[in-house]
Amino acid sequence: MTGTLISAEVDYEAPGKQSGYLRIPHSVHRSAYSWLPVPITVIRNGDGPTLVMAGGTHGDEFEGQIAISRLAQAIEPEQIHGRLILLPMLNFPAAQAGKRTSPIDDGNLNRLFPGDPKGSPSEMIAHYYEEVVMPLADYAVDLHSGGSSLFYPATLLRGMGHSPEEAAALKQMQDALDLPYAWVFTSGGGRESTARTAMGAANRKGVVNVMAELGGAGVVTPGILKRTERGLRRLMNSLGMLPGYTPDTAKGTRELNACGSVYAYSEGVFEPLKSIGDEVFEGETVGLIHHPDTPQQTPDEVTSPYGGIVLCERAMALVRRGDAVFQIAADATTETSGA
Ligand SMILES: [Zn+2]
Repeated sequence: MTGTLISAEVDYEAPGKQSGYLRIPHSVHRSAYSWLPVPITVIRNGDGPTLVMAGGTHGDEFEGQIAISRLAQAIEPEQIHGRLILLPMLNFPAAQAGKRTSPIDDGNLNRLFPGDPKGSPSEMIAHYYEEVVMPLADYAVDLHSGGSSLFYPATLLRGMGHSPEEAAALKQMQDALDLPYAWVFTSGGGRESTARTAMGAANRKGVVNVMAELGGAGVVTPGILKRTERGLRRLMNSLGMLPGYTPDTAKGTRELNACGSVYAYSEGVFEPLKSIGDEVFEGETVGLIHHPDTPQQTPDEVTSPYGGIVLCERAMALVRRGDAVFQIAADATTETSGA
């Protein structure tokens, strides 16, 4: 027994399509016997793998929420082989508020795994995902974006794999999703993972999994949403789950390793001098922090400690010391398709 207090309105073992809610018990002043509704759809037909797709792990990241909801409506059981578990708003209170963290408990779900079955609502969700959902899964996809404060191009994130089989499966998922960029981690992962992320939860349960960063800035980017929806169908087809779908020609993915973030060291209004995909040299001035509150104060220069390309940029002009303004990545130098 997992000890979870969350009850599911769906039966994970039943064939067909069911939609309902995971009920997170939540007894509060305005509603003594209430529960928080985490939406879920399970679609099952015949033999085949189980694929979990989650969005809304952070509530201000929207492409995944739409793409997964649309799949839940569009896919009928007879179209698939296997089981889809679709969770478009995994941290429902955060998603309802459109915030990265839950307004109920300040929980940043992607920093709370493995969670706590008797903890706060966000901790209970983390625990349920890791201990109830992940043991059902063969594959998992966790869809993010840059949230309110960052913007990413459509980017897959994955580990290198801890066995030749896992490495090949991860590369298969990457090729199927066919996003423009892939950020390949060079360490971590595996069953011994201590990561507090949904990816860590999946790794600890031996689930072959990837995540994606899909836009950001608190908005929905139509081109990225289309690319996401195409990628998820291509993925299901590649895993043998959606045989009636004919994938188009792959566009190709540029594999990157992250170098690190460029940070603001003063407070002010940030002017980026680079855009996503631009090349950056080590020591190059990549932005200026202006001080309109102080006449005649010249702007501070922000320089990059790394050479590479801009993978992610800050989506808000106001900055304080410690804010990441860019993330820099370089073409993958490691062998990323072998263990
Ligand atoms: Zn996120």
